[in-house]
Amino acid sequence: MERNLICLGIEGTAEKLGAGIVSSSGKILANVVKYHSLVGGIHPREAAQHHAENMKATLEQALQNASIGLGDIDIVAFSQGPGLGPCLRVAAVSARTISLAKKIPIIGVNHCIAHIEIGRLLTKAKDPLTLYVSGGNTQVTAYTEGRYRVFGETLDIAIGNCIDQFAREMKLGSPGGAIVEKLARSGSYFELPYVVKGMDLSFSGLLTAAIEAAKKQKIEDVCYSLQETAFSMLVEVTERALAHAEKKEVMLAGGVAVNRRLQEMIALMAREHNAKFLVPPKNVLGDNGAMIAWLGILMYDSGVRHKIEDTMVKQRFRTDEVEVKWR
Ligand code: AMP
Ligand code: MG
Repeated sequence: MERNLICLGIEGTAEKLGAGIVSSSGKILANVVKYHSLVGGIHPREAAQHHAENMKATLEQALQNASIGLGDIDIVAFSQGPGLGPCLRVAAVSARTISLAKKIPIIGVNHCIAHIEIGRLLTKAKDPLTLYVSGGNTQVTAYTEGRYRVFGETLDIAIGNCIDQFAREMKLGSPGGAIVEKLARSGSYFELPYVVKGMDLSFSGLLTAAIEAAKKQKIEDVCYSLQETAFSMLVEVTERALAHAEKKEVMLAGGVAVNRRLQEMIALMAREHNAKFLVPPKNVLGDNGAMIAWLGILMYDSGVRHKIEDTMVKQRFRTDEVEVKWR
């Protein structure tokens, strides 16, 4: 590694816009996140408009928090995918503009891998099996032979989306995840559809059944049963992947990983397998720019170079597409 490089990371895959600044020694100098309110769900073009309107202020805030100027940035990284096309393009265009204007390298990074790498940095996990659960993604991944392999994933909607949609239908308010978690604390269990197919999961039937059940059952009971069912499905797939991948660490990532009940259930499973359980700090669990900056540094340091032509956004960018040269 040469001198301490500074990378600016721009996140904009969905409703959150993030600007993070990280040095190659792994120090997070700034991590600013701005939310587009989720009334009625994410509308891709409206979220993109929010990102475009807030980009300048968000970048300026990050630079100010880091007490540096744009001229001090050595590398600019951005979320290349997966995500919503219009949102991804706002982040990509901003990164390209900075790269061209300041004549600094640009790196397009995979958003899912960024969640894993910031988690490894901050928890000191060496080689974890990761359960990444967020508004747009649900994946169990582990590193083997040069790539992050996907051991299991959702076949339809993400777990965070399932909970958010339920909360919206019930008019519980936003953010759905935290409200459902709170209501679930005083609920009791009844059966809801549990759908695991091989190593993959499906949450759309569970969502429909929970909405239907709420016509008769107490909201607390539906919230509890929804969480217990969905999280048990996640535990089952994570547990099988752990045995198969033979890892000694289980790490959580993504906004849903904030949930105490999920943490408790995964921790219990990990303990039964003598695996260490790790959760990164809350401020990097949800989408953020620091994780993008850190992966940008790892990729740059391992020799990855992107030309502007390589920076087209990839809405369906898969975790296992990326050749991992930094491990
Ligand atoms: P992300 O897409 O990684 O930024 O995470 C956002 C998702 O995390 C949304 O679907 C939120 O509802 C969800 N979330 C946030 N807090 C909680 C919580 N306490 N329990 C469950 N889900 C949560
Ligand atoms: Mg995410």
